[in-house]
Amino acid sequence: MKESRKKKIIIIGGGISGLTAGIYALDNDFDVTIYEKHYIPGGQCTGWTRKNIEIDGCAHWIVGTNPKSDLFPLWKHIGAFNENTSYFQTEYFSKFDFDGKLITLWKDIYKLYAELVRLAPEDKKRIRQFIRWIKAYQHVRIPVNKPLDKMNLWEITKFGLDFLPMLYPYLRAKHLSCKDYAKKFKNKNLQFIFENTLSENYNLHSLLYVLQALTMSDTAVIKGGSLQVVRNIQDKYLSLGGKLYCNKEVKSIIIENNVAKGVVFKDDTKEYADYIIGACDVHHILYDLLDDKYTDSYFKKRFDNNTVYPLSTGILVSFKVTKDISSYPKMIAFKIKPFEIGGMPVQFLSVRNHSYTKENSSDPTTLTVLIGTNELVYTYFKSFKTKKEYLEAKNEVGKKVEKYVQEYFSLNEKECELIDITTPLTYERYTNAYHGSYQSYITTARSHGLMRSGILGGLKNFVLSGQWLMPPGGLPIALFTGKHAVYRLCGFEHKKFINKEKED
Ligand SMILES: Cc1cc2nc3c(=O)[nH]c(=O)nc-3n(C[C@H](O)[C@H](O)[C@H](O)COP(=O)(O)OP(=O)(O)OC[C@H]3O[C@@H](n4cnc5c(N)ncnc54)[C@H](O)[C@@H]3O)c2cc1C
Repeated sequence: MKESRKKKIIIIGGGISGLTAGIYALDNDFDVTIYEKHYIPGGQCTGWTRKNIEIDGCAHWIVGTNPKSDLFPLWKHIGAFNENTSYFQTEYFSKFDFDGKLITLWKDIYKLYAELVRLAPEDKKRIRQFIRWIKAYQHVRIPVNKPLDKMNLWEITKFGLDFLPMLYPYLRAKHLSCKDYAKKFKNKNLQFIFENTLSENYNLHSLLYVLQALTMSDTAVIKGGSLQVVRNIQDKYLSLGGKLYCNKEVKSIIIENNVAKGVVFKDDTKEYADYIIGACDVHHILYDLLDDKYTDSYFKKRFDNNTVYPLSTGILVSFKVTKDISSYPKMIAFKIKPFEIGGMPVQFLSVRNHSYTKENSSDPTTLTVLIGTNELVYTYFKSFKTKKEYLEAKNEVGKKVEKYVQEYFSLNEKECELIDITTPLTYERYTNAYHGSYQSYITTARSHGLMRSGILGGLKNFVLSGQWLMPPGGLPIALFTGKHAVYRLCGFEHKKFINKEKED
């Protein structure tokens, strides 16, 4: 009997979403090849070495590390976590230093309540309501098993019913910005916490989502950092027979009669396939690879209106530290004398102290400062005509940050060395991220945070996956949209999606 040929899939981009899609596609008996522009996979989930020390360029935390959570089986299945994985549990989101008084956003919800009341007894009533809302948000579910639009009536009803306990706070929080919510509190320091835990642009819904994950013990960092997560997933993908080509950038998508047929690479070679998964930046796909021929109104509306749909990007400033700073918090935010970057004020620094990941207390470690930035900052860095001017501008930022970091951690120049600065242009250059965006749209009080199917009207045999399909993006979205992309391809093939998570 003639054996049927496996259907071939090309995946553009070897980030978390592309690798995830690759693994589920192999489970479903497709022939899979990932093409990645960078020399290693991982995309924005990455790290790199400077001055003999590794900088973790991504995961401050991974949501889905609690075995009871919706996301855990997916992370486990793609090999991100395995029996050898050690976790660093997140005991708190961050500490805030108000002139020496440390306030902690604890994972333990009772401790969190007590801490906020200690800071602001005058706001006790509203704090109690806030804690109630976090608890209500603990009912949040993520449709990881299949896309929402593929659920039957029973599944969608059950999914909806699970949400009921959080309906009231959701309706209140969805259209309330963190900035406006902060104003409801009397205490100025508490206002500061609400405005800056994410950023004042986010709606309260996003903050509640983050805090429910924290208080459900569903957030951790894994030993070895972001790079180790990617290595684990890559190993699983290759062990199943997946093919991965790095340094292979796609230039355009071959389309015949509105059917995606293959890809053309930067070196002008071509590759054909039955299906294509676009697992990289969605603006790059729509406007570069597809030449704006299939841009739908959902994305167009968002890319055209960056007030309601601002993008999430930033500057990461990294330091090598040779002194033992393990007595300092893992995450600390403190106010500084404000300075500007391209017109955007920076009023505080949020510093991640990586010393908790060290094997020996005498080993050098890193401090990383992530400054959330906006379009002004992107335009500022983009405006430089020469590389020299750009480097000078980013070094100027680095030097300012260095001064505050050394001061706060009582370090001298020898003990704390500035080793790296990334800007939004870095993410743009390495991953083709639109304006350097490393999540997707910020979910503001005025935005509509829909989940997208990833299918583009009028284009057959093509599906998107990745963080852009559900704002505000991040690793969990990259993860489950990769799985969903394969679910849809199985639908195109009229075959049942095989979910092998239960076999793990
Ligand atoms: C500093 C920082 C901190 C972060 N912290 C967290 C955190 O704590 N928790 C969290 O959940 N998320 C965090 N994120 C966000 C998270 O990293 C991203 O949301 C996630 O990695 C996106 O995955 P993705 O696969 O959707 O996209 P990407 O990572 O962008 O992957 C797309 C891939 O496609 C490749 N590519 C692009 N164009 C082409 C082309 N034409 N041809 C071939 N390949 C192409 C890119 O090189 C890239 O590898 C952070 C990000 C950054 C930068």
